[in-house]
Amino acid sequence: MFNKILIANRGEIACRVAATCRRLGVKSVAVYSDADANAKHVAACDEAVHIGEASAQQSYLRIERIIAAARATGAQAIHPGYGFLSENEDFARACEAAGIVFIGPPVEAIAAMGSKAAAKALMHAAAVPLVPGYHGDDQDAALLQREADAMGYPVLLKASAGGGGKGMRVVERSEDFAAALASCKREAASSFGNDRVLIEKYLTRPRHVEVQVFADKLGGAVYLFDRDCSVQRRHQKVLEEAPAPGLNDDVRRAMGEAAVAAARAVQYVGAGTVEFIMTGADFYFMEMNTRLQVEHPVTEMITGLDLVEWQLRVAAGEPLPLEQAQLQVSGHALEARIYAENPARGFLPSTGTLKHLRMPQGVEFRLGDAGQRASVRIDSGVREGDTITPFYDPMIAKLIVHGATRADALARMRRALEECEIVGPHTNVEFLHRLVTSEPFVHADLDTGLIERHHDALFAAQNKPLREALALACAALIGREGGVAASASPWQSLAHWRLNSGFKQTFAWRDVESDAALSVAFSQDGAAQTLDCTGREEAYTWWRGAQAPEYGATIGDTHVTGRVFIDGDVFHVFCLGTAIAFEWQNLLAHAADAEHGEGRLTAPMPGKVIAVLVEPGTVVEKGTPLIVMEAMKMEHTIGAPAAGKVTEVLYGVGDQVADGAQLLMLEAG
Ligand code: ADP
Ligand code: ADP
Ligand code: MG
Repeated sequence: MFNKILIANRGEIACRVAATCRRLGVKSVAVYSDADANAKHVAACDEAVHIGEASAQQSYLRIERIIAAARATGAQAIHPGYGFLSENEDFARACEAAGIVFIGPPVEAIAAMGSKAAAKALMHAAAVPLVPGYHGDDQDAALLQREADAMGYPVLLKASAGGGGKGMRVVERSEDFAAALASCKREAASSFGNDRVLIEKYLTRPRHVEVQVFADKLGGAVYLFDRDCSVQRRHQKVLEEAPAPGLNDDVRRAMGEAAVAAARAVQYVGAGTVEFIMTGADFYFMEMNTRLQVEHPVTEMITGLDLVEWQLRVAAGEPLPLEQAQLQVSGHALEARIYAENPARGFLPSTGTLKHLRMPQGVEFRLGDAGQRASVRIDSGVREGDTITPFYDPMIAKLIVHGATRADALARMRRALEECEIVGPHTNVEFLHRLVTSEPFVHADLDTGLIERHHDALFAAQNKPLREALALACAALIGREGGVAASASPWQSLAHWRLNSGFKQTFAWRDVESDAALSVAFSQDGAAQTLDCTGREEAYTWWRGAQAPEYGATIGDTHVTGRVFIDGDVFHVFCLGTAIAFEWQNLLAHAADAEHGEGRLTAPMPGKVIAVLVEPGTVVEKGTPLIVMEAMKMEHTIGAPAAGKVTEVLYGVGDQVADGAQLLMLEAG
């Protein structure tokens, strides 16, 4: 086994590989770009080497920098993860030339499978079933058109060097073929620098079922069963599961053996995935991915094995840890890819800071030793406060669950998705929840068109528990503005709160998602409180939970607990398995701001205190200058937001203060 390896990747997969290294006592070296200096994967490794600017071209794809980093740190091997350089022949060759072990297949196997067309020719020779189609060298446009016409429409055009769904075009009619071919070639040339295409019969309602294979350097090869990855958007996977539902033992074995035959045909070594497209019990080879797959955890969950450990052992020259007859499937596993993206806008990637990130109770990565498998596992490459940038893949985390049966796993997944709290970029969490509770998915009626076919149901407006969520938002607001621990409250708001006497106030809210205005009337008379968010006044009590953002409320007969993450005036309520955001229309404060201009007690920006004009006990009028700050070479005078008495001055001349820091305390009056 190696003493030290370098991980030429970032995000969750780099963290994932580092976890196995730690468990096996292998030292790990991270590489990072300018954008990732404080990334989780850097902290997850023992050492880290900076390799360039934020763009992948200038960092994670720079072969010479990565080899130099491995040399400088004495790493004996390089794990490429997935994406980036993982299927790059030049990189595998450069490792070899530098005397560093590439944790992956031999250069020749990458090359053989790198071209989908050439791979199909090889698979044909190895008697692996292929989708009917054309994958020849002759790329003459007229010939391609004749081939497509002969096959019968619809057909699918693919970039031979392709990946990630790029260049793929479904062609419905002969008349459309020429234009689709030109556009496929254009995208292929710009994405892969190679415009070779192949044509396949476009199967309707197929399933994507793939087989995990493993081979060692001593001639051993096994399959670690199958995964169904049919649930896709833009031909890219969203939900994966293992084993593939509904395969009988004969089909399972036949696919496994075909996948091993495919691997043997290219003298494969290491972890690989043979992707098949299926209709009924018929399966056809699509392509082989010569690396660890994003969805490998579902296979780990059903086999109890650590595939990264296997990769390291095989790369170090050890035999496969188990033989085919020793491998068994136990239970069922599901994986959901949580992306920063906006499903409502065509799954457009979304960026931004993860202001609040709370994943379900699970374990980070735990397999191996005693073969324990957690029932909920989270593989993530980010932490709260990190930013999803436009530079890299917008995946936030993978949520993986295991259960004795598919139904058990499904129940866990549903629950786990309900426990995800993410504030910042848009995410697909709610969409995933709808998917896993949708009828076709629940009944394992899987095919690659599932999302499109059920589009209307999956995107239909949902009835959210607005009343309950509002009851919690109001609790958090009252807690913040008038509660006992209100020291961080903007003082101008306090003046409007008289919670002990007969008092009535209307809270104006905006439902952030629908933009609807919501008006809630709160009243208090002595200990009796009522809330009216439905046109009906109901008895209301609220309380804070034991852990910071937890709140509870009863409204009428309804009892609800949840968590409220407050971001400025936006209250993100997580309750009853959903997330709802309300923006508080702070009318009084807005009016006060407009009236008093600068009136506030907090620093409007980071800067230095250059004068303190009041002291404890000073009685001030609205607008009296309190403190002068200097920031960005300009002076800013902080004036009193309203009349009152200074009780405490929290900073002195020369102090640096952070943006938003409270500068003094005032007592209204
Ligand atoms: P899979 O079948 O495992 O999803 P893909 O080929 O679609 O395989 O890609 C694997 C993963 O790597 C995906 O999550 C994709 O977003 C990511 N990926 C692919 N290419 C790159 C790249 N050049 N840079 C960063 N990430 C990439
Ligand atoms: P990529 O390299 O982008 O992963 P694949 O060849 O693996 O490309 O195909 C990606 C997806 O496209 C498959 O998972 C499947 O959903 C769909 N697909 C591929 N080939 C066909 C086909 N012949 N008929 C119908 N759908 C297909
Ligand atoms: Mg594929």
